[in-house]
Amino acid sequence: AKDLGKNRFMVFENRMHEQLLTRLDQENRLREAVHRGELRLHLQPVYAVQEGQVAGAEALVRWQDPLRGLQQPGSFIPLAEETGMIIEIDRWILLEACRTLRHWQVENPWTAPAWVSVNLSAAHLDLPDLTDHVAYALATTGLSPRCLVLELTETVMMRDVAVTSARLQELRELGVRIAIDDFGTGYSSLGYLRDIPVDVLKLDRSFITGLVGNGRQQELVSAIVQLGHTLGLRVVAEGVEDAEELNLLTAMGCKFVQGYHLGRPEPAHQLYERLTTPALN
Ligand code: C2E
Ligand code: CA
Ligand code: CA
Ligand code: CA
Repeated sequence: AKDLGKNRFMVFENRMHEQLLTRLDQENRLREAVHRGELRLHLQPVYAVQEGQVAGAEALVRWQDPLRGLQQPGSFIPLAEETGMIIEIDRWILLEACRTLRHWQVENPWTAPAWVSVNLSAAHLDLPDLTDHVAYALATTGLSPRCLVLELTETVMMRDVAVTSARLQELRELGVRIAIDDFGTGYSSLGYLRDIPVDVLKLDRSFITGLVGNGRQQELVSAIVQLGHTLGLRVVAEGVEDAEELNLLTAMGCKFVQGYHLGRPEPAHQLYERLTTPALN
């Protein structure tokens, strides 16, 4: 029985070793990915419901892994967050997103989205040079601060209300806007809406899924949209996957929508070409 236990332990140890190796391997490969230029900027359009036109775009990172092909954020963001590499990744995306929108505005001002929004991981709020870095990205690309939205999740906002609101106020003084991402999933008290300066509320996809045929959920979403508007916020519904959801949201007075029904994330140049080539529209 003792031997069996020992064997089991060795099997366990080997597996752990294997996991550790692949993790270290992954970590190194991800670290190199940034320097080798393997990250890609994808953009997903945000539509203005009334105009039926693209109003903005969200920047979403992808990793063109030479071994495994195009990787979605779910497969590398968690590791990047654990190791702190997320800072470098977010900064790359921020710069690339600003550069791309600025270029678009110069080349084709009539089709350029009014804003690009960039996701910032929690770790950024602890960095004293966050504001400087955002200012640098704007200055070096020439993008107007009015055209940049920074998305932070609700959970991040609530960590330390005093620190967070000071940091966000600093950013807003640059002229950029702040969005609460995944609104409604943080099991939060709504109290932070009073203390934390934000401009945009992104209603999480989980509120949109199952909206059709669920009266109670519709009341809830409608109330959140009204709440946002009452507070002077722009409300964006995320994860709109079909026409029925879009119709319901339109009837509720929701003005901005994002989701597969309207456009999937795609390489930035592809969205650019799609929107600037009328025949393909
Ligand atoms: P998120 O910020 O909530 O982004 C929205 C996610 O929902 C994206 O997934 C998008 O592709 C997906 N989505 C959009 N419309 C629909 C829809 O109609 N149906 C469904 N089922 N999904 C939809 P993606 O690109 O895989 O990104 C996942 C998450 O990874 C993001 O969630 C964000 O938290 C994180 N992420 C992505 N890019 C970055 C980045 O550059 N920096 C940081 N820190 N996080 C990022
Ligand atoms: Ca987001
Ligand atoms: Ca979201
Ligand atoms: Ca999310």
